[in-house]
Amino acid sequence: MADLLLDLVVASRTLAEHGVIDAYGHASARSETNPQRYFMARNLAPELVTREDILEYDLDSNAIDANGRALYKERFIHGEIYKARPDVKAIVHNHSPTVVPFACTGHEMRPIFHMSAFIGLGVPTWDIRDAQEGTDMLVSSPYLGAHLAKQLAAHPAVLMRGHGSTVVAENLPRAVGRTIYLEMNARMQFQAVMLAGPGGYINYMDDAEVAANVSWQNYDRSWELWKKRALER
Ligand SMILES: [Zn+2]
Repeated sequence: MADLLLDLVVASRTLAEHGVIDAYGHASARSETNPQRYFMARNLAPELVTREDILEYDLDSNAIDANGRALYKERFIHGEIYKARPDVKAIVHNHSPTVVPFACTGHEMRPIFHMSAFIGLGVPTWDIRDAQEGTDMLVSSPYLGAHLAKQLAAHPAVLMRGHGSTVVAENLPRAVGRTIYLEMNARMQFQAVMLAGPGGYINYMDDAEVAANVSWQNYDRSWELWKKRALER
């Protein structure tokens, strides 16, 4: 368990360093000993997270031992996805800036770069307005979390209109790597669309290439580097 908590510290600092979570994003990991529980920091900017800030939550997103510490308003994203997706062991919710325009134009995110091959598994967009009118855009209730989880379905990520995205994986390094490369893919795809011009041809990765990449892509070498950097600071 100790290592998982340390990995969450690494994940939080790494995502902040890459600019894919600002003061408001968060990373979580399912407990290795109790699948009905997950770990996530108390309410603070991810760059500042230490092991002592990480709390245990049940899948209804109640903190087990908050001791008066404030919780993330959007913690229901995590609890409701862990309920719906037994295969998911790690989640990153983020406000990755280049992803947002894709979520509000209906412009489909497609895999343009081998490090972001997972996008070829499909990245749907969720509109909070389909669940509730006139919200502050935040996933601040179990109902909204469950609605988001339904749109995510079996996919590796879901874009959130006017907000950001939520990325899931079978382990934390994979969730962090996917989040960083989702942002990079958005940047490259935008550039390709500009270069190609209206209706221009863009040669994306095909399904066979996607399948050949996602089976092994764990971002292991990156994780080793990120861990060293995050813990040296
Ligand atoms: Zn958010």
